[in-house]
Amino acid sequence: MKKKMEKAFNKQVNAELYSSYLYLSMESYFQSVSLTGFAKWMRGQVQEEMFHGIKIYDYIHERGGRAQFDAIDKPVSEWNSPLVAFEHILAHEQNVTELINDLIDVSLDVRDHAAKAFLDWFIIEQVEEESTVGEIVDRLRLIGDDSSGLFLLDSELGKRVFTLPAK
Ligand code: MG
Repeated sequence: MKKKMEKAFNKQVNAELYSSYLYLSMESYFQSVSLTGFAKWMRGQVQEEMFHGIKIYDYIHERGGRAQFDAIDKPVSEWNSPLVAFEHILAHEQNVTELINDLIDVSLDVRDHAAKAFLDWFIIEQVEEESTVGEIVDRLRLIGDDSSGLFLLDSELGKRVFTLPAK
């Protein structure tokens, strides 16, 4: 694998681990306001992002590269409401989509079609991520200040069961 590609993949491992760290911080926020269903949903996000990071890490080695670690940025720890937190997630995921697009640009630039094929999985994943989070943002906007609506959504999100995708 070309050095430029390897470097870009390593940067993305850091970005995925940052996502996991950010979502763990959000999980703690939801715990602190006793929205345990939201917190449980966030735990799924934490595990999913860790999985994304490891998936890329494994791929770097599969291609004969070496993982290079950098410091992981400090995540925000307070949000004013569940809506503000979910708007943050949506903006964050849209940014991650851009990062994946950038990675694909690098793969095309160095003519690494194998890397491009590997990255297609992440493209599909980001469409699903933005759609799921966007729907929750819409529902939180509809709920507004209605606490019974919020608790209903909390119990629904609490049903999330995260299972590791097949490799
Ligand atoms: Mg991710």
